[in-house]
Amino acid sequence: MAGVTFDDVTKVYEDKNEQIVAVEDLNLSIDDGEFLVLVGPSGCGKSTTLRMVAGLETITEGTISIGDTVVNGLEPRERDIAMVFQNYALYPHKTVQQNMAFGLKYSSDLSKQEINERVRETAEMMGIDDQLSEKPDQMSGGQRQRVALGRAIVRQPQVFLFDEPLSNLDAKLRTKMRTEISQLQNELEITSIYVTHDQAEAMTMGDIVAVMNAGKLQQAAPPNEVYNHP
Ligand code: ADP
Ligand code: ADP
Repeated sequence: MAGVTFDDVTKVYEDKNEQIVAVEDLNLSIDDGEFLVLVGPSGCGKSTTLRMVAGLETITEGTISIGDTVVNGLEPRERDIAMVFQNYALYPHKTVQQNMAFGLKYSSDLSKQEINERVRETAEMMGIDDQLSEKPDQMSGGQRQRVALGRAIVRQPQVFLFDEPLSNLDAKLRTKMRTEISQLQNELEITSIYVTHDQAEAMTMGDIVAVMNAGKLQQAAPPNEVYNHP
């Protein structure tokens, strides 16, 4: 297990002849096993922050650490993280089994049999074990997101990164999945960074809510402190 630390992290995009400061001097540390929800208006730097932890964007200045490891120079596959996206990012024509096994094949030394066993255990935990031979393009949005979550969990990473994972679902399913993710987090206690626009998600899921605005961190505190204004 490991926490995540941002030390004076800045991200500047070079866009034609313009420089866009997407994240500025971010200092933040997320404890081991803590669930941090990252909120703020569109364009404030949430995705960029997450993508720098994942290794999908370079870090212009400062350092990001996972546990004691500075990850700045590491490839995405060398980082002990798993990411869940809004659009699932599943292979539509591969089975659930294949989707869940794919990352493990390339990022672990597990045998085929060990992989299959882990996929089955995780699918049971997620309630999708009856669907291992189905394909995502035959499944509902909620089931697809369960597969995407299962694919992240099966890797047993140190850190989960969630980029608005529920925003494509209808309100009822969103509430249900929110509860499921919170329960999983309580069981697994994996350090998580969860980006959302949804205040209800931030209030109910987060141990800590971090509020960004125009690339800067405004506040990081428990949800009742962030949302209970006098
Ligand atoms: P959020 O996730 O909070 O909506 P983003 O991290 O996506 O914010 O974006 C932060 C800022 O960086 C915005 O001004 C956005 O337009 C800009 N930005 C994001 N990605 C790029 C990119 N690849 N090139 C240039 N500018 C970008
Ligand atoms: P989000 O909904 O997470 O804020 P956006 O819709 O802002 O995401 O961005 C979607 C994609 O477009 C991202 O990969 C982001 O890096 C890229 N992007 C955002 N703003 C710009 C920009 N000004 N120039 C180039 N790419 C951008």
